[in-house]
Amino acid sequence: MSSPHGVVIIGAGFGGIGMAIRLKQEGVHDLVVLEKADEVGGTWRDNTYPGAACDVPSHLYSFSFAPKSDWTRRFPAQQEILRYLRDCADAHRVTPHIRFGSEVLEAVFDEDAGVWRIRTTAGELSARVLISACGQLSRPSMPAIEGLGTFAGKGFHSARWDHDYDLTGKRVAVIGTGASAIQFVPPVAERAGRMHVFQRSAPYVIDKPDRPYAEWERALLRRVPALQALHRAKIYLSYESRIAAFVKYPQLMDRAAKVTLRRLAEQVADRDLRRALIPDYPMGCKRILLSGDYYRALTRPGVELVTDPIERITPTGVVTRDGKERTVDAIIYGTGFDAGAFLAPMRITGRDGLELNEAWREGAQAYLGITVSGFPNLFLLYGPNTNLGGNSVIFMLESQIRYILGCVAAIRRHGLAWIDVRPEVQRAFVEDVQERMRATVWNRGCSSWYTDERGRHVANWPGFTVAYRRATRRPDPRDFQVRTA
Ligand SMILES: Cc1cc2nc3c(=O)[nH]c(=O)nc-3n(C[C@H](O)[C@H](O)[C@H](O)COP(=O)(O)OP(=O)(O)OC[C@H]3O[C@@H](n4cnc5c(N)ncnc54)[C@H](O)[C@@H]3O)c2cc1C
Repeated sequence: MSSPHGVVIIGAGFGGIGMAIRLKQEGVHDLVVLEKADEVGGTWRDNTYPGAACDVPSHLYSFSFAPKSDWTRRFPAQQEILRYLRDCADAHRVTPHIRFGSEVLEAVFDEDAGVWRIRTTAGELSARVLISACGQLSRPSMPAIEGLGTFAGKGFHSARWDHDYDLTGKRVAVIGTGASAIQFVPPVAERAGRMHVFQRSAPYVIDKPDRPYAEWERALLRRVPALQALHRAKIYLSYESRIAAFVKYPQLMDRAAKVTLRRLAEQVADRDLRRALIPDYPMGCKRILLSGDYYRALTRPGVELVTDPIERITPTGVVTRDGKERTVDAIIYGTGFDAGAFLAPMRITGRDGLELNEAWREGAQAYLGITVSGFPNLFLLYGPNTNLGGNSVIFMLESQIRYILGCVAAIRRHGLAWIDVRPEVQRAFVEDVQERMRATVWNRGCSSWYTDERGRHVANWPGFTVAYRRATRRPDPRDFQVRTA
């Protein structure tokens, strides 16, 4: 095998591209980005369904070190985000570092050499530092419904949208009413002949204050960069202030729930439909969704909300527990992602042959969501407990990127073979996170992808993003065991 690369990054979404840009800016050019697909973008490459868009305003859902003044809308649509990421990769000369069509299957740490040996679908390579940027929401989750494989019509997951299949006039079943479904239901309802939306749990849906930016606004932001920075800061502060209701004062959510249910009543006149759309859990416990047209779409003629649980799928349609079959031409699975799998299905083996899935048998955990004891020189982006309910994931990624840059600089500056976070440091962090979770809205008695099957909170950060930024400001050498080269 040829000599090891300085840094290998897995994944070319926001995390991988941002990490590569910042490494290059810090003078680390010996880096390779491995991407299993044939294009950058991650989430925003895969989720091309009609209506796909971000729930965080564009000026905040972008890198602080790569501002874009001419966002066309307040909330960016999928294509515009994807274009932004492509432009970032090109402008910062990251694209030549990316090896597309390279899926990482396995990585094994060679403790003596201080090197990660990486096996991909396109060959083998090695690295001093390995950074995983494979995302939390990149593996579509299909429901375990009896007969799913027998359906003879068209079936696809929202993250694998089949644009060659024309839904015009078709009878369509939508399974799930989560963040993706509420975005694609309105545009599909306009085209479909009939639509049955199968709901297991009603979401809280609040208005999305979206609008295009006027030409004069874009010109102003372009000409006065300080104004753009101010605009971003204002959006950040307004989102950050809402975090209080998620992590400190969940009772504030009850007031917001009342307002949301009033809006529901204004938009849905039919009593039975309205009743079916009232969530049966406290607001915020599951992801709060944003839409200006979801409720209206459900009131269209030819659209039916089905709350009876699905019993099975047949070659011709979907059967509910009451024995009724809805015959359909297509089934669209808006059933979300396998969020808790983190680095799986990759096999990552650290010191003493410890495999990551084995280390995580009690649940995924990492110090600051970034480093895992026993896995030296491995860093995670968007790892356990770094997701948010109320602010931009890009802000969190930037905090992680800065921390990892600090680790890479320390390894280089001190000529270290590797650094490995101390187990007791990780344990104390994880205990603190789980303890703080008790006061949050996610602990108010609902099940969601935020928790694992044991009820541990593995996805979200239980605090303000500014606190996370502070905690990740720079690595503390006392937190690590080190081996000199
Ligand atoms: C539909 C949808 C809407 C969202 N909306 C919001 C929002 O409004 N606000 C918000 O803050 N966040 C949102 N998110 C979360 C979003 O995932 C993050 O904001 C961000 O895009 C994560 O970037 P990432 O680079 O960490 O992961 P991803 O974008 O998932 O990228 C991971 C990349 O790694 C690659 N990869 C994975 N495994 C391997 C492997 N073994 N080998 C090689 N390559 C691999 C994948 O192909 C992919 O390109 C949304 C997510 C989804 C799915």
